This record gives sequence, C-alpha cells and structure tokens, in this order.
Amino acid sequence: DRVLIGNKVSEGHVNFIIAYNMLTGIRVAVSRCSGIMKPLTPKDFKFTKKLAFDYHGNELTPSSQYAFKFKDYSPEVFRELRAMFGLDPADYLVSLTSKYILSELNSPGKSGSFFYFSRDYKYIIKTIHHSEHLHLRRHLLEYYQHIKKNPDTLLCQFYGLHRVKVPISFKNKIKHRKIYFLVMNNLFPPHLEIHTSFDLKGSTWGRFTKVDSSNPEEQPVLKDLNWLDRDETIKFGPLKKKKFLEQLKMDVELLAKLNIMDYSLLLGIHDMKKDNADDLIALDTESNRNDHPISGDQMLHGSVIPHFFKQYEGGIRSSDPFNNDTELIYYVGIIDCLTNYSLLKKLETFWRGLHHDLKVVSAIPPKDYGDRFYEFIADSVDALPPARYKDNPQIQN
Ligand code: ATP
Ligand code: CA
Ligand code: CA
Repeated sequence: DRVLIGNKVSEGHVNFIIAYNMLTGIRVAVSRCSGIMKPLTPKDFKFTKKLAFDYHGNELTPSSQYAFKFKDYSPEVFRELRAMFGLDPADYLVSLTSKYILSELNSPGKSGSFFYFSRDYKYIIKTIHHSEHLHLRRHLLEYYQHIKKNPDTLLCQFYGLHRVKVPISFKNKIKHRKIYFLVMNNLFPPHLEIHTSFDLKGSTWGRFTKVDSSNPEEQPVLKDLNWLDRDETIKFGPLKKKKFLEQLKMDVELLAKLNIMDYSLLLGIHDMKKDNADDLIALDTESNRNDHPISGDQMLHGSVIPHFFKQYEGGIRSSDPFNNDTELIYYVGIIDCLTNYSLLKKLETFWRGLHHDLKVVSAIPPKDYGDRFYEFIADSVDALPPARYKDNPQIQN
C-alpha cells in the first residue's frame, strides 16, 4: 500500500525483458494504427492482431533485442478511446516508449498484478489476470458507449489492452508464458505532490492502513476505516457535489450491470497550503490553462471540452458551501474495475457470511456492492461523518 513511487526498471532488473517487450510491442502496434479514422464497426471490437518479434526482424516487425510474441486487442477501438480521452497520439507514443525506462511499483495490491509507470508518470501499465482481460473484451462495447455518453466519467481510462508471450525454460523444456496487460491513466499528477490518498470501497472489513508515524516521509494509501476515523469528507459545494454524485451513480450503475465489484474510489489530495509561496504564484497564474494541445483526432471527435474532474492542474478544486473554490485539489476516479463476480467471490461471500454481518464484508453481489459503495461516498461528500460507523470497534486499533 505504498504511494506511487517506484523502482527504475533498467537493464538487469528481473522484469526488464518483459517491460522492454511490452513497450516494444506497444510502439510497433500503436504506430501501425495511424491511418484515417473510420467509424467503428462491430468487427473492430472483436479484432485482434498478432505480431512476432525476433532478433532479425522482418517486413512486418522491426528487429527486437528479444524474441517474443505480441497480441493487440481491438486497436481501432482503443485508438478512438484515446482520442475521446483527449490524448495526443504522438505524445502517447513518446511517453510510453522513449528510452524504455519505466518505474515498477512494489506490488501495491494483493492480486499479484505488477504496475509500471511511463517515464513521465502520465500512464500506468498494469498486468491483469486472464479473466480480467476477458471481461474487458466482452464488455468493450458497453464501456465504449458509456465513455461516449459520459465524457466526465470517473471510470478508469483504458488506453490499450495487450498480451505478450515470452518463452521460459521449465525443466529443460521451453514453455510460454502469457502476460495480459493494459495501459491506463495515472490518476495522480506527475507534477504535484499528493499529500494524502485514500482507496475507498465502502466496506469496513479489514479496510484499515496502519500509519507509521515515525516515518512521515512514507505516505501509505489509506482506506475506509482511516477515512471514518479521521472524519474526512470530500469538500464540494452544492454544484460540484451534484455533478460528482450524478456521475458516480451512472458509473456505478454500469459496473453493477456488468457484474463487476471490488472496485475502489481512489482519491488523492493535494493541499495548496503546503506548497511554498513560489509554487502558489505559479499555480495561480497558470490556473485553467490547457496542458494538452488539441490534436487532429480530437478535432475530429470534437472532444475539446475539458473533463469536469480534471480541469484544475489535472484535478478538481475543493469548494465551500457557497461554491467558492478552496485550497485542496482532488484527484479522483474509480479504479480496479474489471473484477467479475465470479465463483471465487461467491465462495468468499459464503465463508465470510457464516461469521460476519453481510454489510461489512467485501465480497457481496455486484448490485449490493454498488449500492453500498455509492452510499458510502455520497455520505462522505460535504457532510458530517456518518454516525452509524462511529462505534465500529475496528477503528480503535
Ligand atoms: P487488489 O485487487 O488487491 O485491490 P490490484 O492489484 O488489483 O489489487 P489496484 O486495486 O488496481 O491493484 O491498485 C492498487 C493501488 O495502486 C491503488 O490503491 C492505488 O494506490 C494504485 N493505483 C491503481 N490504479 C491507479 C491509477 N489509475 N492511478 C493512480 N494510482 C493507481
Ligand atoms: Ca483494488
Ligand atoms: Ca484487483
């Protein structure tokens, strides 16, 4: 549960070859898909493209330091998604492939996924489970339609879904390992410090992060019980609150419909009071500037209106009850939203349900998960801390 600072993945790192292959594959696949954008057809959602890399290269693929296979899923759909999210195609390539240096996060979750940041910290590569990749492919059309209808969605922005297949030797035989991964937005800004961050699920079961007060440099990601313990609220005036909860409701409804659960609201807080005076002046004069020049793809789709929750330094300012902006910048979105309510989760519900009140366990059916999640967040916006959690004994330890 560390905040996002990673170890450089350079030559000699255990995962260097895999990271190198991922970036090589992305670079070649993304640059190939650069013709004129045509309206998407159902075929584009099913389409996959395989590339084989080796030391010599051929007419389809340039030479690569290592031999591996790469698979690109629905490239035209993701290209259009990137345009809808306002990414510049050239920038995207430069961020992800220049010099092959990434940072690896020290396993932030329990799932075993690896996280890599692009060099400029704008993008995150997350390795995902086969079933998560299947889920995204199966529901890519719904995801796409949702993004189109909801330009201010809080859902994680997916920019690409890929697979690398690497040879591994196992008992003197060559086997292959398939690694699925996706590229998504780093919710947190590359240029500002996040002073506090929360990963909120609306569940209290085990949702407490111990803070080591002897080490103020280390800022762990806090959870639901820390949130309640600190009487935290999201400080939005009536206008932002309304917009935020309306969007959250739409997003959660989609997730419930797609049978997804176990997602979180990730909230990073930058406190402008903690900036030094020079930074503050810079912030004021640069406020509301548009960081990203408008690209051809964006013009085509007319998606030049800034994202409502990313308008100020890539985030959204807190505000008082009279809708005046105040000193916090929030970076907020829904992450980890590809977990299907599978048999595994059903079993988990069964085992935990035997011993605990269903309201506090984390694996409950998607609709209930969504309702509980929404309610928890809605109670947390610009309101007094919900009294019903106050006597929870888990907060004390
Ligand atoms: P688990 O399933 O055990 O929760 P996971 O491996 O699926 O873990 P996530 O929940 O996706 O991992 O992410 C773990 C942590 O990584 C988050 O709490 C957050 O701190 C960070 N993180 C994940 N996605 C993003 C993102 N898009 N932007 C910034 N930080 C992120
Ligand atoms: Ca998670
Ligand atoms: Ca997960």
